[in-house]
Amino acid sequence: MLARQQDRESNARTYPRHLPMAIDEAHGSFVRDMDGNVFIDCLAGAGVLSLGHNHPELIGIAAEQLGRFTHGLDFPTPAKEAFIEAQLSMLPAALQDRMKIHFCGPTGANAVDAAIKLCKTATGRSDVVSFQGGFHGSSAMGMALTGLVQQKAPVANGMPGVHFFPYTYCSRCPLGLARDTCSSNCVAYLENTLRDDLSGMTRPAAVILEMVQGEGGVIPATLEFVQRLRAITRELAIPLIVDEVQTGCGRTGTWFAFEQYGIEPDVIVASKALSGIGTPVAVIIYDRALDKWAPGAHTGTFRGNQLAFAAGAEAVRIVRRDGILEQVQQRGRQIESLLKPLEALPWVREVRGRGMMWGIEFQDPDTGKPGGDLAQQVQDEVLRKGLILETGGRGGCVVRLLPPLNTTEDVVEQFCRILVETVGALRG
Ligand code: PMP
Repeated sequence: MLARQQDRESNARTYPRHLPMAIDEAHGSFVRDMDGNVFIDCLAGAGVLSLGHNHPELIGIAAEQLGRFTHGLDFPTPAKEAFIEAQLSMLPAALQDRMKIHFCGPTGANAVDAAIKLCKTATGRSDVVSFQGGFHGSSAMGMALTGLVQQKAPVANGMPGVHFFPYTYCSRCPLGLARDTCSSNCVAYLENTLRDDLSGMTRPAAVILEMVQGEGGVIPATLEFVQRLRAITRELAIPLIVDEVQTGCGRTGTWFAFEQYGIEPDVIVASKALSGIGTPVAVIIYDRALDKWAPGAHTGTFRGNQLAFAAGAEAVRIVRRDGILEQVQQRGRQIESLLKPLEALPWVREVRGRGMMWGIEFQDPDTGKPGGDLAQQVQDEVLRKGLILETGGRGGCVVRLLPPLNTTEDVVEQFCRILVETVGALRG
């Protein structure tokens, strides 16, 4: 079945190339394949299934909604009302009345498109600042904003008006500086360019970034970088868009990752885990002051998924009731203490992450160059031992973990043990 399906599917498919399995059933943190093998799932539908597969309460509420009606375009509905209420209630208090929500549809990339369109309309400007190593989706605009060159479709490579600046990838400093001599030169460069009328760049319509670059290799931005970026964009009235498609909905231990940086963005992009069951929904949440676009400025047929709304509101209730954010913080500390020691191995460059979003970056121990082949070997070997995970980063040199947020302490211990064993034996 696996081979037949793959033969009929596009060459552009991704995950099954390195995870050769056909999924039969999945529950919580576990997936069972067609041969009856059970795997710990540290991919969770690319970070979508934040409360695990088939969470009974989410499925229950979605099934109830299924019996009522499923698609509501952008008409007001009770499920949508509950969803909006739940989402806005998760914002920091100061933002709750200041922000509005727009339903995009149905993917993260479409919400990124909407965010850019909103900021261009509101400012009347056209250029956008994005960051090296960032990922913002597979639409033409998403690809144009993506700084991960290997992921770019050729069609978007030459899109004008997007300016890439260095991100705080301190382990491989884009300015070639040693970590201990760093004084945030990357953000200083951006500040100088934005302030300098003769830099050649007109004032941009927006700056967009991920708080933790996900596809780029699980790279958390430094505090100083983000705070200075917020200060300069405020000073020059440039809207700051935080792409929380991957980091949002509790993934890093706060509902949105920007909360850990003490900043207030102008636009938040969210999608992936919003419904908790993989039913697509994507939104931008933005400052009312930007709401200057015309009615119908960003449409799309699939913006009224009632199953996603019903499940998404319920997911927020469960996150609160079960103290999921605190759990994520605890599990994050557990993962850090179990995996950080791997940095002692010469082929491990860095172990980094936040909450339930972690990466292990590999390097050639002799040259220090990105070790994509080692990351690939780990992904293959741990699959044989019953663990699903993804790779990413430049040249695929980072093994990435995105387990469900409610993965138990025992299961975290199990998957970390598999990783420690496998990574330790790589060159042993
Ligand atoms: N932004 C970020 C930060 C992402 O990680 C992704 C998906 N990996 C996207 C945007 C695009 O989302 P989608 O695949 O739903 O279009």
